[in-house]
Amino acid sequence: LDPEEFRRLGHAVVDWIADHRAGLDALPVQPGVDPGWVRARLPAELPEDPAPLDALLDTVDRVVVPASTLWQHPRFFGYFPANASLHSLLGDMLSGALGAQGMLWSTSPAATEVEQVLLDAFAAALGLDPAFTFAGRGGGCIQDSASSGALVALLAALHRAEPRWRETGVGGDERVYVTAETHSSLAKAVRVAGLGARSLRVVDAAPGSLGMDPDALAAALAADAAAGLRPVLVCPTVGTTGTGAIDPVRQVAEVAREHGVWVHVDAAWAGVAALCPEFRHLLDGVELADSLSTNPHKWLLTAFDASLLWVRDGAALPAALSITPEYLRNTASESGTVVDYRDWQVPLGRRFRALKLWAVVHGTGLSGLRSHIREHVALAAKLADRVRADPAFELAAEPSLALVCLRVVTGAGPDADDAASREVLTRVNASGTAFLTHTVAGGRYVIRVAIGAVTTGPEHVDQLWDRLRAEAAAMLHQRQG
Ligand code: PLP
Repeated sequence: LDPEEFRRLGHAVVDWIADHRAGLDALPVQPGVDPGWVRARLPAELPEDPAPLDALLDTVDRVVVPASTLWQHPRFFGYFPANASLHSLLGDMLSGALGAQGMLWSTSPAATEVEQVLLDAFAAALGLDPAFTFAGRGGGCIQDSASSGALVALLAALHRAEPRWRETGVGGDERVYVTAETHSSLAKAVRVAGLGARSLRVVDAAPGSLGMDPDALAAALAADAAAGLRPVLVCPTVGTTGTGAIDPVRQVAEVAREHGVWVHVDAAWAGVAALCPEFRHLLDGVELADSLSTNPHKWLLTAFDASLLWVRDGAALPAALSITPEYLRNTASESGTVVDYRDWQVPLGRRFRALKLWAVVHGTGLSGLRSHIREHVALAAKLADRVRADPAFELAAEPSLALVCLRVVTGAGPDADDAASREVLTRVNASGTAFLTHTVAGGRYVIRVAIGAVTTGPEHVDQLWDRLRAEAAAMLHQRQG
């Protein structure tokens, strides 16, 4: 493909993207296809000869789009959002154009230094302690996911707890502390690190809350230390996946520090809200932590994947992860004056993700990012008010930022409410007009409404609310009839 032909085809692809985004509102959010529907419509063999782009776009229209859950749809309210803003697509194109592989500073100085500058600037914009910046001897990097961030934080924690770990591996006596609400990526990190499930300690929540109880943590740490075990890492969460619960980071970190335990704050979804001064308190106490991750690819207008990880000790990840074969040696690395991001992650190679994040913040400004967050938080507050005012529904938890957890109320007891909530969610999703997911909190089925898609506005939340009420009424009617 020569550059001139690329120009022609590229325009066609950009046109396709613009048309697709402009038409999203009219499409069902979730496809109604059965397993195997896509496979049955694709040629089983790869083409021997080249084919025109039109044929590919035609297949995308006929097969791919109808079988896609449309995460960029304005009435996508499931899981947490995945914000692929058009600004970030532009940045991704630039990154792909350069095609740089930024494993070492020397393999693309720009890929490394743009990322360093952006991470330092984002740390300041989020109000993080300057100790998390390169200027403060810490530093940040862009991981593919919060799961990877948790894994490398755990590896750094293992190394700090036992420097011989690199030679001997884990001993089986290490312990990692989470709550029942902690994301499963921590359990996975524990497994990948070779620790085994028994290393994972689930700390109780404080009475009447879903957040980690610092007293229970103190008791668990003391008991484990007394038993000769080795507490390694505590993970408080700012904005749990189920209900958006917030662990008391400051108290947790204070307790953990007494035992020299690494504190990794998982703020994958909610952390970006700290760009707004009124939500900065969410990261209160993070200055006592060792690492923090938050995902622009969830709620900060940045296409998957971009998860920011900061560490207070800029040497911690390279100390745990660096392995230098001859073919990677170079004078810049040996000078000790550059960052080689390969030492901050599991894979060797890495793409130039910073360009995508930069394109977002360049195109929207911090003011645009703050409006995006504020608008969704306001929409969640309004939805929560409606839920409170309607006897057919109840809040399962107080709204957390832009996440509203609700249940259907039947008057026939909590088991009946569980069943009704499940049925209403199924009906809404089957209608194709909106997409919701659920959790179980306090043993009860909960409908989660995660507001945050790039183009979600008041009218879309209104439409969801009308649909929820209509489906609840129709279900009741059907049951009575
Ligand atoms: N932590 C929390 C609180 C999450 O909500 C999620 C995903 O929803 C994750 C971690 C995992 O994120 P990732 O997909 O970036 O690994």
